[in-house]
Amino acid sequence: MNLNERDKKIIWHPFTQEKIAEHRIAIKRAYGSYIYDEQNKPYLDLISSWWVNLHGHAHPDIAKAIYNQSISLEHVIFAGFTHEPAVKLCEKLHSLLPGLSKFFFSDNGSTAVEVALKMAYQYWRNQGDLKRTIFLSFNGGYHGDTFGAMSIGLKSGFHDIFSDLFFSVLTIPFPETWDRDEEIQNKETYALTALEHHLNNSADKIAALIVERLIQGANGMKMCRPEFVKKVVSLVRRYEILVIFDEVMTGFGRTGTYFSFEQVKIIPDFLCLAKGLTGGFLPLALTVTTEKVYSAFLDEKFNKAFAHGHSYTANPLGCAAALASLDLLLKQSTMESIQAINNAHRKGLADLPARQRRVTGTIAAFDVHEAQTLKRKCLEQGLLIRPLGNSVYLLPPYSTNTSELEEAYDKIRNILKSIYPGRCNTK
Ligand SMILES: *Cc1c(COP(=O)(O)O)cnc(C)c1O
Repeated sequence: MNLNERDKKIIWHPFTQEKIAEHRIAIKRAYGSYIYDEQNKPYLDLISSWWVNLHGHAHPDIAKAIYNQSISLEHVIFAGFTHEPAVKLCEKLHSLLPGLSKFFFSDNGSTAVEVALKMAYQYWRNQGDLKRTIFLSFNGGYHGDTFGAMSIGLKSGFHDIFSDLFFSVLTIPFPETWDRDEEIQNKETYALTALEHHLNNSADKIAALIVERLIQGANGMKMCRPEFVKKVVSLVRRYEILVIFDEVMTGFGRTGTYFSFEQVKIIPDFLCLAKGLTGGFLPLALTVTTEKVYSAFLDEKFNKAFAHGHSYTANPLGCAAALASLDLLLKQSTMESIQAINNAHRKGLADLPARQRRVTGTIAAFDVHEAQTLKRKCLEQGLLIRPLGNSVYLLPPYSTNTSELEEAYDKIRNILKSIYPGRCNTK
């Protein structure tokens, strides 16, 4: 039996309809921007392995940091104990996150969001405000697959089957936009009107607003304008509603700045980080908050404490990987690579026969009807893409160079032309 057959017999894969699932590609090794299958065929990883990889696969600096850490301290309980890699990582991140000074560790993006939701809820309870029990979120937002994260991702379409079990959420339309979008002003006005309606009716019942900053990832890499987020935040803050920025996907340079909230110059009350935190090596997450939120949990008695924690909280190997990844991110050459990827995206998208072409930082996306056909043909030609519905996106590791991206766009353009003969572009 080959690996694919052995897998089929025993493994249940994520987000997969097993009955009709296509044959799985067994990956033997990975290096830089490429993963290699059993026949040693390379695939350019244009989805950064579900958005986690930053600096390329098997990066020696991160690998060494993990190895060195593992032979001195692999793990220790984090209640009542601490260690250098955790403290150093938070000190270092703090220098990039002005105004955010308290760091709570967990294991993945969903738990980083759960922690923010629970802290926001308990923040009000601890101060005797029992009314603020509702959350505000955007239609189509995706925040993870655990119950709290599913509740606020109510309209994502992924979790409808569980909706009877969700807590109360109010939603706002997300004004997605793209190149040459003439309707954006109307879409934003419509969304702001919906928000004002909620605030007029229920502002004093709302605990927090949660936003995927600038880009809704799993909803199809839908992008909005930074000014819009600015308006939303300043509106909700008039009512003291807490603000959670879910930067699980957009953190660590993805949107062109270290964190996407820098582009709106707003300091949130909570920032959720995961995916790129360890450069794509190990699962680790952080929920970062303010001194103001932290102080609301301080008391002589335990009952105001935040009673939450995972067995692998602040795993030292994860922290060591994150520190090494952060060192790479802070190199001048990394920001230059990020800029080069942005330029290559703009050039590559310009003459693609596709609709709703859009770019933010290192993420490019467009819509085509035949996205699944495109995916299949791309895989044949050594390009790893994974469209979300009709939305195709390219989100490469920062190790990807301009000529690799140009070649990828050429292949995609040719495939699209073969699917839609006679169409040059839809400008
Ligand atoms: C992926 C993602 C999550 C969930 O992260 P997991 O590590 O998959 O649990 C949450 N929020 C956003 C914005 C994401 O993209």
